[in-house]
Amino acid sequence: MADHSGDSRALCLFCRIIDGEIPATRIAESGEALAFRDINPQGPTHVVVIPKRHVATVVGLAAASAQELQALFALAGQVAVDEGLDAGYRMVTNTGGHAGQTVFHAHVHLIGGRPLGWPPG
Ligand code: AMP
Ligand code: ZN
Repeated sequence: MADHSGDSRALCLFCRIIDGEIPATRIAESGEALAFRDINPQGPTHVVVIPKRHVATVVGLAAASAQELQALFALAGQVAVDEGLDAGYRMVTNTGGHAGQTVFHAHVHLIGGRPLGWPPG
């Protein structure tokens, strides 16, 4: 069992998914990143890719190591290949309330499998 003392992991949905305390359809992971299917998919493929370290927003990742950032985007790119998204896909990082961020653990939405309109709503 992970040690939740002294930080916000215990209250964080995605940290609980990382720790296996909440079920999710995990499809890929590395030492520093995890990818799982979004529970409310916005396209034929909708995967959430997260760093395993708790950081509230992607802006917080500015202080991450180059290795951690590399791990996050390498996993996202691997999932895009594995899901056959060669026609294109979108990576979205909602940040803050107006953008619709609901889970304050940095994450990249990887959405594809259909034409995607621009600009987003
Ligand atoms: P955001 O609104 O940008 O913070 O993204 C959070 C995403 O997490 C949403 O797209 C939710 O559908 C997704 N989500 C919430 N709970 C779960 C869960 N238990 N398993 C998978 N995805 C989830
Ligand atoms: Zn977290």
